[in-house]
Amino acid sequence: MISPETIALVKERTDLVALIGESVRLTRRGHSFTGLCPFHKEKTPSFHVNPNRGFYHCFGCKETGSAIDFVMKLEGRTFAEAVRELAERAGIEVAEALTDAERREAQAARRSKDDLYAVNHLAATFFEHSLRGGPGSSPHPLARYAHEELERRGLPLRDGDGAVDPIADTLQAFRIGYAPFGWDGLTTYLRQQGISPVLGERVGLLVPRSSGSGHYDRFRHRLMFAVTDVMGRVIAFSGRALPDPSPAELSSLGLTGPAPQADSAPAKYINSPESPIYTKGEHLFGLYQARQAVRQRGEAILVEGNFDVVALHARGIGHAIAPLGTAFTPGQAKLIKRFAPAVVLLFDGDAAGKKATRAARAPCREAGLSARVASLPAGVDPDDLARKHGPDAVARIVKGARGLLEHLIDEALDGDSFGGSSLPEQLARVRAVAALLAEEDDPNLRMMAKLYADRVSSKLVIGGRSPDDLRQLERVVEESLSRPRNQPTREVTPSGQSTDTWEHARSRAQIQEISFEILGSLLDFPELLADDEVQGALECLEGDVALAIVAARQNFSFEMGLAAGEFLAQVPAPIHSFAAGRLVSPVFEVASTAKATLLENSKKLSRQALARQKAAVMSQLQKSAVDADAENALLRELFQRRAGGLGLP
Ligand SMILES: [Zn+2]
Repeated sequence: MISPETIALVKERTDLVALIGESVRLTRRGHSFTGLCPFHKEKTPSFHVNPNRGFYHCFGCKETGSAIDFVMKLEGRTFAEAVRELAERAGIEVAEALTDAERREAQAARRSKDDLYAVNHLAATFFEHSLRGGPGSSPHPLARYAHEELERRGLPLRDGDGAVDPIADTLQAFRIGYAPFGWDGLTTYLRQQGISPVLGERVGLLVPRSSGSGHYDRFRHRLMFAVTDVMGRVIAFSGRALPDPSPAELSSLGLTGPAPQADSAPAKYINSPESPIYTKGEHLFGLYQARQAVRQRGEAILVEGNFDVVALHARGIGHAIAPLGTAFTPGQAKLIKRFAPAVVLLFDGDAAGKKATRAARAPCREAGLSARVASLPAGVDPDDLARKHGPDAVARIVKGARGLLEHLIDEALDGDSFGGSSLPEQLARVRAVAALLAEEDDPNLRMMAKLYADRVSSKLVIGGRSPDDLRQLERVVEESLSRPRNQPTREVTPSGQSTDTWEHARSRAQIQEISFEILGSLLDFPELLADDEVQGALECLEGDVALAIVAARQNFSFEMGLAAGEFLAQVPAPIHSFAAGRLVSPVFEVASTAKATLLENSKKLSRQALARQKAAVMSQLQKSAVDADAENALLRELFQRRAGGLGLP
């Protein structure tokens, strides 16, 4: 039980504007602040924060509450979790309704955590001084290896002469340092500072000797990156290997240390092990330094390595962060979500980068973080790009980033290897795409992705080497699989039937007419967009009409209705005049009639599409020398869909 005094103190001490400002861009308006509500979609701000009264309120969705409510609601925390989180931010000790003994224990635990932060802070200072010299001390004689590594990455360490130097500022902000050569540099330093080696061991900086007593340094002769939490406390370290000094150099300096291992190169990076203040996968490298930029830009750039982060910051791209040597986790995605709704994945163009991109999808979905992918040329990392072509080149690539789902579809269907692979392999890939689509529950995303997959697959057909190509089949399979609500629609033109143009044109005109009618019903009563039945029915639409529906969703809110101007600005040109006309002069007077007509029209479209599809498959099967397995699978799928309840004649 948390005491009522603590709860009151948390409310009193929490800077509500700063807290909410981490996830909502707030603008001052008189005594309060306004911004776009994080709890419902809107275009104009109806979310107000009143710091004096300590509460927020949304005039749109009526969400209201205190700082504690905000954390509970936004991050899905329980009451106790939210209080603890806010207490930690505000530096308040959570007074539990405890016995004296329990309270003493809690205090001790808190104090021992503080001790660990302090040890890490001292160590970071020691590494910095070893790299560049401190008050009354010169840099370590072998620190030049670290200097050379920084230079190699275009981040030379210069003496501050007062001039503005983004590189120097960045190296300082990231507390870049050098862990000295030898076994006991830090061990000795901590002892001199009166710090027990047990504390150093607890944060993973020191390792107990296996024989006898005493400790030795975990990080030796490495370039050091301090890892901080979002409050800027040093929670861990990451050390990059440096080239070994020669025996001659060592003896001239009178140094002894770990013998260079001839058979095994040291790990390129070593990270601190987990500790009471550091859990893997729950922190992001650079987020503390990037947090303002991330909030302002409304997105973070996620890169693979610590060096990429530092290099990008040094070149003016201040919203870059990295996952700290692990795969991107849901915890990290949620952490980003506290600062911005979106992330751009800027991973290397190699196989590992591609794998990391695919693996990022689940955490992003889980956190509700919108993800885009910026593709780097193979063999180029973000640092190369920024160094050789300047920050603008990075900005351009980030700006051109595509939705993660689009990217994955493209990768599955459009890769060079697709055309050359076997039919079963192609079918497997198409099924993988269908599965991606079916998983997506945001109707806008799904519709966009479907349009995109259509485009890619028709490109395959058009660009196909022979018109009889089996790709037609893949299209059909994709079609049937990508429709979780059993509404196959797309017109599939059987190959070799180009003579059938009249029939084709007539059915196209019909489809367009029915589609426009569906859109019309919605424009008369935009609130139908939120109706489950209607949402399902809309999946039969495609092309421009589908895009118009996406635009309508984006510009509709219950309190404001459909923002006609914005909607029309986004509608594809061929639809524009129909949509504008329908908006000024609606047809239906009652929502229920509009809905019934819409559903009826959607059924019509679906029946037509299925009939066409069936004909196409039949004709294809007659012609193709498909292997029996694929043929059976195809038929099974088609008829399963059909049995799905469209009521075909
Ligand atoms: Zn709201």
